[in-house]
Amino acid sequence: MSGSLAESLLDTPSGSRIIALEVERGYRDAKEEELTVAFARYVRCSHCMRKGCPRCDYVGWNVHQAAAKVLVPRGATPGTRVTVEGAGDDLGSGGRPLVVEIVQAGPRADELRAAQADFEGKLETAWGMEKAARGGHRRRRGILASAMVLLLLLVPVGRWLAKPGAGEPCTKGNDCRSGHCIGLRSGPTWEPKTSARLDALTCTDSCTTDLDCPESMRCRGPRPSELEGNRERTTQFVVDMPDGLSCVPRGY
Ligand SMILES: [Zn+2]
Repeated sequence: MSGSLAESLLDTPSGSRIIALEVERGYRDAKEEELTVAFARYVRCSHCMRKGCPRCDYVGWNVHQAAAKVLVPRGATPGTRVTVEGAGDDLGSGGRPLVVEIVQAGPRADELRAAQADFEGKLETAWGMEKAARGGHRRRRGILASAMVLLLLLVPVGRWLAKPGAGEPCTKGNDCRSGHCIGLRSGPTWEPKTSARLDALTCTDSCTTDLDCPESMRCRGPRPSELEGNRERTTQFVVDMPDGLSCVPRGY
């Protein structure tokens, strides 16, 4: 991920980002002293290194309010610049040098303060914009993921709907939407299957009344012969009836 708004903001000639350190008049006579400057800086998320994670609100970097200790050398005058190593913006390889200029109240201090406020404002804006953009991506990814899940759920449903329903031919139970393929046989008596003539194999489905079945079928439970294979005299019978009420072709 390159070319972020903030990084183009940071891609400025070196030394263009200068933090003002205002000192009192007559400072030049003072001894070496440690003072503190406050500023906002760009810090790449050390957790995800720009990929985006919950810690950085999926922006990959953040704006940190920082305070740097500046060792102002003895004899420093307005215009003296002090570089604080590692205190500046951090693009992932450690902080850049922070350039601090000693100023006194006046136009130069105002100029540097305005530039700092402008830069920090832009940094905040860039962060907000990148956050919004990343949020949009995440939402779109979320929608895409939902669509994929829906698709994965619908594929088996489609396959199931493509299977034959009650009354349609089958060769085995798995062929049928209901999972039940019944055999229609004709013969003088219930005999071992080999002695009866197989008329057809057809899908069945569970039902509660005839209205649940196709026109050519009716809703009934298995007969004792169909369940137990006794020698009840019948000419047309069904084999492999599932338990409960099922659609069976009329005449069987
Ligand atoms: Zn992160």
